[in-house]
Parts: sequence; structure tokens; C-alpha cells
Amino acid sequence: MAIEKTFSIIKPDAVKRGLIAEILKMITDSGLKIKGMKMIHMDRAQAEGFYAVHKERPFFGELVDYMISGPVVVSCLEGENAIEKYRVLMGATNPAQAAPGTIRAAYGLDIQNNSCHGSDGPDTAKTEVAYFFNDDELVG
Ligand code: UDP
Repeated sequence: MAIEKTFSIIKPDAVKRGLIAEILKMITDSGLKIKGMKMIHMDRAQAEGFYAVHKERPFFGELVDYMISGPVVVSCLEGENAIEKYRVLMGATNPAQAAPGTIRAAYGLDIQNNSCHGSDGPDTAKTEVAYFFNDDELVG
């Protein structure tokens, strides 16, 4: 299996509740390695650009408001099959449907406030990592 990079966000609901360490522990316990990481507070344009793929969806405005409601932790993760591995670790979008042992089952509040983001495929992983990190910031 290939070594891949993927992109992760610990979202505002989780940062506000002091869950950064708990979620990072779940990530590193899964075998994923942190290549780069920073805490940022996105502005509206940055969040709209990041979620541009969803701009026609009815929840787009509220999603952007939520993503700029507080700081987030963005990271680039690396490992075997990292993209799928991290999607499985996050669990279903709606925490009520997320499998036990997943981040969203443990910490997600509702379908919007679901604590984490992870890239859904190789193309988005590449775009999303590059959206927040320069090559020289991937130091791990
Ligand atoms: N979202 C929402 N309402 C919905 C579906 C999604 O607020 O009905 C939010 C939620 O925070 C989700 C994000 O929009 O994580 C992106 O949605 P997507 O379908 O890409 O889910 P993900 O890939 O994050 O599981």
C-alpha cells in the first residue's frame, strides 16, 4: 500500500471544548504521522475558498460561519493508506451515525459540529494540503 499524505482540521467545536490533545492522540495512535501542523483562525474568504466545492449546498453559509467561529488546528498527516485510514478514524459525517471508536462518535456534537475534517481522495488531499501549507512547513 502506498504512503500517502492527507489533510486534517480539528474544527472549532472541538478546539473550543479543549479536545485538541485527545484528537491528536487518536490520530497518532492510529499510526498516522504528523508532517506539519498549525493553529489558525480562518477568515471568511479562506473558509469559502476551502469549501468552494459545497457552495451550492444549502448548508454552505452556516458551514462557513461555523468554520470561522474560532481557531482550528490544521495538519498534514502521512502514512500507509492515510486518506482512507483517516476517513475511517473520523467516522460518518453525522456523529449519530459514526461507528464506535471514531473521533466523531467520541466528540462530535451534530452533523455540522462534527469535530474534524479529512480529505476525501488523493486530488482533494493534494489541493487541501497546499491550501494551508508551503512545502517547507512539512517538516515531520
Ligand atoms: N455539513 C453540514 N450539514 C450537512 C452536511 C455537512 O453542516 O448536512 C458540514 C459538516 O461540518 C461536514 C462538512 O459540512 O463535515 C462537509 O460536508 P461533507 O459532506 O464533505 O462531509 P465530510 O467529508 O466532512 O464527512
